[in-house]
Amino acid sequence: MFDVAIVGGGPAGSRAAFHLARGGARVALLDDSHPREKPCGGGIPARALALVGSSVAALSGGVPIESARFAHLDRTATVQLADPAGLLRLAVASRRSFDSRLVEIAQDAGAVMVPSRTIDIHREGGAWRLATRGEPVAARFLIGADGPGSLVRRRVASPFGRRDLSIAAGYYVHGVTSTQIDIAFVDEPSGYLWSFPRPNHLAVGICAQADVATSAPLLELCARWIDTNVSGGTRERYGWPIPSLTEGALRAERPSGDGWMLVGDAAGLVDPITREGIFFALRSGQLAAESLLQGADPAAAYAERLSDAIYPELIAAARLKARFYRPRFIALLISSLQRSGRIRAVMADLVAGEQPYHTLRGRLLRTFEVRMMSELFASR
Ligand SMILES: Cc1cc2nc3c(=O)[nH]c(=O)nc-3n(C[C@H](O)[C@H](O)[C@H](O)COP(=O)(O)OP(=O)(O)OC[C@H]3O[C@@H](n4cnc5c(N)ncnc54)[C@H](O)[C@@H]3O)c2cc1C
Repeated sequence: MFDVAIVGGGPAGSRAAFHLARGGARVALLDDSHPREKPCGGGIPARALALVGSSVAALSGGVPIESARFAHLDRTATVQLADPAGLLRLAVASRRSFDSRLVEIAQDAGAVMVPSRTIDIHREGGAWRLATRGEPVAARFLIGADGPGSLVRRRVASPFGRRDLSIAAGYYVHGVTSTQIDIAFVDEPSGYLWSFPRPNHLAVGICAQADVATSAPLLELCARWIDTNVSGGTRERYGWPIPSLTEGALRAERPSGDGWMLVGDAAGLVDPITREGIFFALRSGQLAAESLLQGADPAAAYAERLSDAIYPELIAAARLKARFYRPRFIALLISSLQRSGRIRAVMADLVAGEQPYHTLRGRLLRTFEVRMMSELFASR
């Protein structure tokens, strides 16, 4: 019997496994998918690198990013990301190597990897029984780290509705790379297209709310962007859902209960503006482990930690989202990026995950970009 069974060995699950095993718990980490590429940009900002150590990104072949080019219609602005002190502010990694490295670190700490898919879960006599494609697993506590379609979530809570999901679609362009990321804002569907360079390919993609879009027009937009901006390379299509919760859904979330917790995408912990989820996956995995190791009422302790450390930021993002993606605001953003070093500094910090949304208003005030601030915050 294990102390904890973790279903899903992505960043959330392997980080929870690492911290729990290091704290002395007997942990089973169930995932049949490795080694595998996960459909993802693979952008790992400074705040996520701080949780795993930038050596993990380097060891897993992450590309250090020097600049970000923002575009809207025919206008562009470039923001330098390289830190004057030489600190890495954004790396882009292949999820095949990054996630494998995190699993190895969890195993080195003592977690037992069970390379089997979990196909059913039930509770019996105070223990969770997990049926897998291989041997069954039993544990006293269950962590669901199995992504947006989480089986654990479906068993202990309810699955995400379509309005709480985005669909992402795009192409890996093999044989091409860079040290710059590209962000091209799109008015319809409102959002942005990204091109993130991995060591031997670009991950180009775009996403839209699942209740208003299908993947065919998204792929068409990506293909057109690649035709115009990338020369050479061979294309491989990908698509995947991303949780993208509204403010109301975030407030209604129940991330834990008697004997269970949800972490990462399975808990809907993704920035609804940028769809950045790796940091929140790593952090929630760590918070889940800390709550379990502290002993008394871990489910309540975890919910409280999320309320302190993660929900306020995601709720602030959900509230800003509609205003942020208005074409009028994006046009203003690009012209401010072109002429104002202070706005470029704010944007660099946002990309690195070092500028929280809840202090953005005060930071923008100090840039004297009054119009930008009022477009984003006034009379909400
Ligand atoms: C196209 C796209 C681009 C993105 N770009 C970025 C980005 O650039 N930066 C960023 O920070 N975030 C990005 N995200 C979000 C990011 O990918 C996720 O938020 C992150 O992977 C969440 O980590 P996780 O560990 O919660 O889940 P996942 O990474 O999804 O891992 C879940 C794991 O569970 C396993 N699993 C599922 N079901 C079972 C089962 N029944 N039994 C056993 N194992 C199971 C899966 O195989 C998988 O290994 C992007 C997402 C998409 C779709």
